[in-house]
Amino acid sequence: MTTLQVEGLSYSYGDKTAADGLSFQVKEGEFAGLIGPNGSGKSTALKMIYRALRPQSGRILLNGQDLLKMPYRQSAKLLAAVSQENEVPFQFTVEEIVAMGRSPHKRLFDLDSSEDKRIVAQALEQLGLTELARRSYSQISGGEKQRTVIARALAQQCPFLILDEPANHLDIGYQMQIFSLVKGLGCAVLAAVHDLNLAALYCDTIYAMKDGRLLYQGTPEETLTPERIWEIYGVRSVVSRRPETGKLSVAFLPKETERAI
Ligand code: ADP
Ligand code: MG
Repeated sequence: MTTLQVEGLSYSYGDKTAADGLSFQVKEGEFAGLIGPNGSGKSTALKMIYRALRPQSGRILLNGQDLLKMPYRQSAKLLAAVSQENEVPFQFTVEEIVAMGRSPHKRLFDLDSSEDKRIVAQALEQLGLTELARRSYSQISGGEKQRTVIARALAQQCPFLILDEPANHLDIGYQMQIFSLVKGLGCAVLAAVHDLNLAALYCDTIYAMKDGRLLYQGTPEETLTPERIWEIYGVRSVVSRRPETGKLSVAFLPKETERAI
């Protein structure tokens, strides 16, 4: 069974505690969303899980095995990540970057097999990048870069996917397409999600963070209540169920309307 289990993860930058004893788990096929205001520690939490930061305490178990003790190559076969900042220092084409997703599956200097080529072509196609495959990454738009790094993560073909605000820079069409695509992969997904309506549509479980701590966890119905949205973001809202989707929909109320409710 595939499970990601996080126990008591903490991290401080100097004396600023950004993650404070985080514990949660993501099960096979589950889409878990991490919500919370800017600076609440979502990226810090995800960076520890995709091994960009070493936790100062706590542990991370992937299928019961200690992630931090795994060789990087082994964890990269199990867990793919899309980080929030995606600048690439060298001149690579879109296709070359997507092909990097295959490297954990190959030995150094192995050529791309026909299977690798098929997987890369498929990931390019899924993200609408086929036409851009030979363009330089440094010369494409923010949204196209975002789709390129998502395609790279898909090409990595891992049972776990970590996404840090994957809808960043994307128009509503691509936002919906990417969430549907990721949901359809059947991987265990842990994603920082900015947009509460996307979280309501796609997440099975939502973890709400504030000031480095986990405040709430549960289904969208349990976590996305006007009271909790107020507590987390300080914004008034109305939450209703859309008959078309059966999912919750959140409408935010500007300060000026507060007296009316
Ligand atoms: P989020 O992703 O929820 O916006 P982050 O995990 O990026 O939050 O940041 C959590 C806190 O840690 C913030 O207060 C942020 O300013 C701080 N922080 C993040 N990265 C660094 C860093 N490299 N050095 C110092 N402080 C940082
Ligand atoms: Mg962040």
